[in-house]
Amino acid sequence: PPSLMMYQPMTISGVLHHGMTQYGDQEIVSRETHGPLHRYTYRDMGARAAQLAHALRGLGLQPGAVVGSIAWNNHRHMEAYYAVSGGGMVMHTCNPRLHPEQLAYIVNHAEDEVVLFDATFAPLIKAIAPHCPRVKAWVCLSDAEHTPAIEGGPEVLRYEALIAPQPTTFDWPAVDETAGAALCYTSGTTGNPKGVLYSHRAIVLNALTSCTGGVLNLSPQEVALPVVPMFHINAWCIPYSALVAGAKLVLPGPKLDGASLYELLEAEQVTMTAGVPTIWMGLIQHVEQNGLRFNHLKRTLVGGTAMPQALIAKFVDQYGVEVRHGWGMTETTAVATLSVLSRQDMARPVAERHAIIARQGKPVPGIEIKVVDENGHTLPRDDKSQGELMVRGHWIMERYYKADRTALADGWFPTGDIATISADGVLTIRDRTKDVIKSGGEWISSIDLENAAVGHPAVAMAAVIGIPDPKWDERPLLFVVRKPGQTLEKQEILDFLTGRVAKWWVPDDVVFVDALPVGGTGKVQKNELRKEYGNGVPN
Ligand code: ADP
Repeated sequence: PPSLMMYQPMTISGVLHHGMTQYGDQEIVSRETHGPLHRYTYRDMGARAAQLAHALRGLGLQPGAVVGSIAWNNHRHMEAYYAVSGGGMVMHTCNPRLHPEQLAYIVNHAEDEVVLFDATFAPLIKAIAPHCPRVKAWVCLSDAEHTPAIEGGPEVLRYEALIAPQPTTFDWPAVDETAGAALCYTSGTTGNPKGVLYSHRAIVLNALTSCTGGVLNLSPQEVALPVVPMFHINAWCIPYSALVAGAKLVLPGPKLDGASLYELLEAEQVTMTAGVPTIWMGLIQHVEQNGLRFNHLKRTLVGGTAMPQALIAKFVDQYGVEVRHGWGMTETTAVATLSVLSRQDMARPVAERHAIIARQGKPVPGIEIKVVDENGHTLPRDDKSQGELMVRGHWIMERYYKADRTALADGWFPTGDIATISADGVLTIRDRTKDVIKSGGEWISSIDLENAAVGHPAVAMAAVIGIPDPKWDERPLLFVVRKPGQTLEKQEILDFLTGRVAKWWVPDDVVFVDALPVGGTGKVQKNELRKEYGNGVPN
């Protein structure tokens, strides 16, 4: 029989209402783009979100309109998240590290009517504005003093001036929970970026799940600092889950170096943080070099690329910080699987515990996974059978924005990741389809090789690509960034890898570089490496 429960749609404005009314005094601390910290409460944030919603109406935007943002993690971006989605519009977060041509492409494809941007990105706005004729207003997310004039560029509105005269309450419209609330494009390493339009329901369900003990464990006692950008998969929905949980929120603005992050973690007594491994490498380097320790940090959520076991060990053994390692993608709204130690795991030897965390873990509630072969047949969960990872669940995309057909195969989303699943349901990502190295008919996991290399104490970062080989089809080529002051040589790292990975996986050559090309979401851009080295090391 039909249930007798009332129906209440899950909406972003509902999350805002909850945060404001239940935790109105809770703090949001935010680094301004020009440096100083700004602090206010959830209540203040909600009032200003209402002002922004009025201002956007004033600019002629109706429910359903799309608003772009090119911005850091800061309080004005937060206000936009709630004003836009809460107002029945679509918040389109843009990755500023996209090539300007791609950025203009996504602003046009999404049909952004207003674009909100941080002063840092003024040159970018100047470059794309002439190619984005539909944008009615470019709004700089700062006060009058810190709004740059863009010479020869479009007219720029000042955020503070725009919202100042507006009322501080807004009659948030009723929206269908399945309506689009936020839009994020994939990075488009192959072809044009593709849009993923998240529903209110997907975001709220993910935010609720994220708060639970086995995921982010957020509560009014926690202080969360998302380093993962608000333009990268909704900062893994932390801007929403913080309000669901009533947690204090700390937003780092543009300063993501080790020293700035450390200062913020300590000063604001952050208990939980989230970001990609490259960020944590920078942080740990700073902490090590200066003999520091964490006095408040309890947990870090890592994902976006594989977290090397050596780095997990550092956090846990030397600094007493728990690492939770998640897997997700733009198409999965936020975290889809997560490795967390169980009670039984806690009793295992240290190295085994770290190895468990280094895998990508189990699906969080609401998500299911499987791996399939080339014919779409489900492979056994034996930790050995590799195939494409398929995912389905409450917050998984069905089709790309404006696409005329589904992206699903038999109701599952094909991720383009190569993975194995163990008998107890633990996922291990072996590679991305486009990065996989096929050598002598067998697959070499670039992720496993990179993780092994980073285990060497002199290695700061490592990346592996496949290069053509007349005998084996492809062979791995290793790139290494040495830690400052270290004198690691080729033979030493190759000897180190021998015994840690299968013999035939050991690369034939190593290229030492000062830095690796890292994209806007903190991932090594292997396509850049391939451009230069795709045919092997130039003589
Ligand atoms: P892109 O990397 O193309 O910018 P996404 O940010 O959506 O796009 O990245 C999703 C991809 O990142 C996944 O398909 C997977 O390959 C990789 N990824 C995410 N988390 C992890 C992880 N914990 N371990 C290994 N790979 C990961």
